[in-house]
Amino acid sequence: MVDRNIHLPDEAATLALGAALGRVLDPGLSIHLVGDLGAGKTTLARGVLRGLGWTGAVKSPTYTLVEVYELSRLSLHHFDFYRFNDPREWSDAGFRESFNGHTVSLIEWPAKAGGLLPPPDVEIVLESSGDGRNASLRTHSARGRSSIDRLWQSFPPPHTPS
Ligand code: ADP
Ligand code: MG
Repeated sequence: MVDRNIHLPDEAATLALGAALGRVLDPGLSIHLVGDLGAGKTTLARGVLRGLGWTGAVKSPTYTLVEVYELSRLSLHHFDFYRFNDPREWSDAGFRESFNGHTVSLIEWPAKAGGLLPPPDVEIVLESSGDGRNASLRTHSARGRSSIDRLWQSFPPPHTPS
């Protein structure tokens, strides 16, 4: 179910959506980031980390498969499965342990893990739209919906003209 579509005219808007999301995330949520190369998935993840108070660099996990962030409020695992050739690599790599009810997982290219990933609480689909992007947010669980309901109360943030 598509809860809402948002137009993101530029990179700053993607970062702002991510930051607003980061501020409302509950521990344990699994979020799938879906879209082609260049759609803005890593940019959105960067915004989420900013919203959670992370001030350091956010590297794309394209080569490392996962980047781990220990924040004061929760830990976050940012995955990118683009380079997976076989979904079984996912089990072999021991990533199942990330889905423990505490860690937030942000997953780029979830389809590359086949059916091995737990279903997401929230799915965000990013697509090109003119010079910008369109984001569709879908919630798939009560916990996901509760976070996203809080997101709509805070987005767009006050400093972003709407
Ligand atoms: P992905 O991880 O999906 O491959 P990235 O997050 O690396 O994509 O973003 C690719 C490019 O898209 C970056 O140059 C980024 O600045 C740009 N970008 C992100 N969001 C937007 C937007 N809303 N409008 C225009 N460009 C954007
Ligand atoms: Mg990326």
